Amino acid sequence: MAAPAEIQNHSTSAAEKQVLQLDRSDLIVTRAWIANKRVQSSDARTFPVENPADGSLIAEVADCGSAEAKAAADAAHRAFASWRKILAKERAAHLQSWLTQVKKNQEDLARLISIEQGKPLTESRAEVAYGAAYIEWFAEEAKRAYGDIIPETAPGRKIIVTREPVGVAAAITPWNFPIAMLARKIAPALAAGCTIVAKPAEDTPLSALALALLAAEAGIPEGVVNVVPASRKNAGAVADVWLNDERVRKLSFTGSTAVGKHLAQASASTLKRLSLELGGNAPFIVFEDADLDRAIKGMIAAKFRNAGQTCICANRIYIADAIYDEFAERAVQAVANLRVGPAGGDAEIGPLINARALVKVERHVADAVEHGARVLIGGKRHALGRYFYEPTVLVDVDSSMVLSCEETFGPVAPLFRFHTEEEAISAANSTPFGLAAYFYSRDIARVMRVSAALESGMVGINEAAISTEVAPFGGVKDSGYGREGSPYGMDEYLQTKYLCLGGLS
Ligand code: ADP
Repeated sequence: MAAPAEIQNHSTSAAEKQVLQLDRSDLIVTRAWIANKRVQSSDARTFPVENPADGSLIAEVADCGSAEAKAAADAAHRAFASWRKILAKERAAHLQSWLTQVKKNQEDLARLISIEQGKPLTESRAEVAYGAAYIEWFAEEAKRAYGDIIPETAPGRKIIVTREPVGVAAAITPWNFPIAMLARKIAPALAAGCTIVAKPAEDTPLSALALALLAAEAGIPEGVVNVVPASRKNAGAVADVWLNDERVRKLSFTGSTAVGKHLAQASASTLKRLSLELGGNAPFIVFEDADLDRAIKGMIAAKFRNAGQTCICANRIYIADAIYDEFAERAVQAVANLRVGPAGGDAEIGPLINARALVKVERHVADAVEHGARVLIGGKRHALGRYFYEPTVLVDVDSSMVLSCEETFGPVAPLFRFHTEEEAISAANSTPFGLAAYFYSRDIARVMRVSAALESGMVGINEAAISTEVAPFGGVKDSGYGREGSPYGMDEYLQTKYLCLGGLS
């Protein structure tokens, strides 16, 4: 494989920059947020946060370590004592106030996502709305952490089951949905009566810190929401403090399988409750009886959203032999229409997050081509330079290629050919991952057979937009465990206590 070419810098136009200017510049918080105060890192070190579209510096942010992680856990522990005791409807009201603040500042939050993460403004707006939907849903759910009464087994007894908050919860989040990934951890935690310490991804700490500031402006008491930013170098030091702190009873992590497994091992000494939403490698199967218009639209959405950087992105696209050539042709037409560019313009596809991501996409495409795949469109860095990559369609892809077993996380649609339903299912299940899977068919018996056979936590059937706050999001196998959204998402922050009352007769 050829060595990766040097990265050419793109320069964003003044007009595009203007669109991304914040109305409230004070939403940019550059220090840790602990007990509703801005806190500098103890050694005053900072790390740069850059716009991935053009490399411009957005802010220098406090590079925190163990001292700030401990201070955040102390604050969250102090706050837990009272937060857990207030009425559920008061916690619900606090979440509603936070929702109001998020909505009031939704355009600025969207701009902030776009400048630090690079996704087009329309997608950032959708992300803010999606994150807000979790806050709203869990504000309502806060009032419904019901218990049970179980029929007694002896006279004069009552068996009561109550549900209590697990305690201080830690959240570690990725850069691809910097607002939504955090909102869907903080909202159920607060609704359940837990307090939070969070470490956002090093590429996108500003969105998370803005969310915390808005929580404070909404009147959420000090110590309930704490955010500790850190560079990648210090991420482990921050996490280690929480992993070893017995007062932190829960960890919810979204990120790579490698880091997830490390956190699971490292949290064993304090036996933390864990929710791990890890890597995916979603199969997207189109059977010969599918509605092709719908399948093409679904593929474009499931593959190219956020430039292919979502954990439920279609990574392996399996097309029935009878429709393979037609599907490939139509996929190329659709991909040719995708507009690539910086977030402030009319682009539908932004840059990749960083050089590491770009090099990975290049490696996957080069490996596929080396093993016999053909590039129908794209296949190289975009003329815009920086981390922009051309939306790509590959055909004649097979299981000998790296992109059949590794998540590409970029705008590359590899088309695999299959001949039978069994072959498609077996290929779809042939990775260690099991987050999302998609398939298209109009045969109801097949729909039921294939849904049951797919090894994944979520299945989109003739549907690519599967994420919603009302449904349980999560995986199986190496994609982790635990669910986010829906009542299942609240369970992750609650523990069950059984009361046995005797002597009642
Ligand atoms: P990605 O490859 O997409 O960046 P990661 O799993 O590496 O995914 O990162 C997801 C989150 O995990 C980020 O917030 C990152 O800083 C954090 N992280 C990375 N390494 C560690 C670690 N050793 N301990 C705790 N958190 C980590």
